[in-house]
Amino acid sequence: MPAEGTEPAAPGQDPETPADAAAPDGSVPTLGDVLLAAEELWPESLAEGWDAVGLVAGRPFRPVRRILFAVDPTSEVIDEAVEWGADLLVTHHPLFLKPVHSVAGTGFKGDVVHRLIEGGCALLTVHTNGDSAVGGVSDVLADAFGLVGVQPLVPAEDGLPEEGIGRVGDLPEATTLADFAKLVFSILPAVAGGVRVAGDPHGVVRRVAVCGGAGDSLFDAVRRHRADVYVTADLRHHPASEAREAAVNGRPYLMDVSHFGSEWLWLTPAANALENVLNDQGFSAEIRISGTNTDPWDFVLTPGLN
Ligand SMILES: [Zn+2]
Repeated sequence: MPAEGTEPAAPGQDPETPADAAAPDGSVPTLGDVLLAAEELWPESLAEGWDAVGLVAGRPFRPVRRILFAVDPTSEVIDEAVEWGADLLVTHHPLFLKPVHSVAGTGFKGDVVHRLIEGGCALLTVHTNGDSAVGGVSDVLADAFGLVGVQPLVPAEDGLPEEGIGRVGDLPEATTLADFAKLVFSILPAVAGGVRVAGDPHGVVRRVAVCGGAGDSLFDAVRRHRADVYVTADLRHHPASEAREAAVNGRPYLMDVSHFGSEWLWLTPAANALENVLNDQGFSAEIRISGTNTDPWDFVLTPGLN
């Protein structure tokens, strides 16, 4: 766990900075204990119907002394987890979203399963249940951008009023689209793709909608909330183009950020929340945030900059 007040290293920076402090006093939880704590924070009932969340590998009676948090269960992250001696890897993205007939080590996903089991490391997915929960991915983004009066873009069907997908709120003071883009860029981890913006750089923005991860299915909600700008990831050509065509007074402006980057910010508050619940129950475990950049892009060429 990062010491209080210590930021974990952003991906691409020194990964050794965070979380090597000795675990505080407390008994070692089992995986089952950690799963109960996780369910308290990120109830699986909050996950979208198409999602696949929960325990992917691991036995509930095994002790969990070390927990690694990461966005993606990529090969590099598995190496990081096993080399550190993690007993549990918590990732935002599922390793398996579709049913499989084999986990043979001949494919990269099967290989991940084998390496996890051979390395004694369980895998837990906290995906759209982590998005929707209070303190979820979009809540963390809204907080980081300084938004006030925050509410879900789309409230959860069976949840609290504060739960749901995406968030919308107001900047404390109106600013320009260009300055807000600079703020967003400075807050997210540095990735090759940077931040793409559609709209007048001098346009005034105050009401901001955010959705960590791919959010181009939420334009109706963004318009309903009269957001000046929408920050999300994976904006595809057609939804983005049509949203620009349908814009009123140029709004909502669009800001397309790294999918990985938009979700990476959540890892530290999520790890802190899990540590707090475990500590409250008399348990302690050493928790670390992965320093691996799992954004798939490596470089970009843009006119005028090369
Ligand atoms: Zn995602």
